[in-house]
Amino acid sequence: MKLGLPLDVVRETWHLRAACRGPEAVLFFPPSLPERREERHAREKKAKEICEQCRVQRDCLDFALRVHEPHGIWGGLTEAERRELLADINEPLERA
Ligand code: SF4
Repeated sequence: MKLGLPLDVVRETWHLRAACRGPEAVLFFPPSLPERREERHAREKKAKEICEQCRVQRDCLDFALRVHEPHGIWGGLTEAERRELLADINEPLERA
């Protein structure tokens, strides 16, 4: 996540310790050209393996959930997985 960071994340400091800084940052977002399903799964698997060893995974995930980050892998979760998590978190509130 070295390039193209949203302004909010630049104001925070956890991203300076992110394991995804550098050339592997490309794994965390879809390429500009279409990718096949198996290519996407392979890319996301590699990115998630990096997230598992990242010292700021919780900060990263908290941030992505807070700003409703719509793209890429943050905190070890894809955008679809974060949407599901937010729906699960908000469901009890909506029922109350
Ligand atoms: S948890 Fe993953 S996406 Fe977030 S900073 Fe760490 S390596 Fe990057």
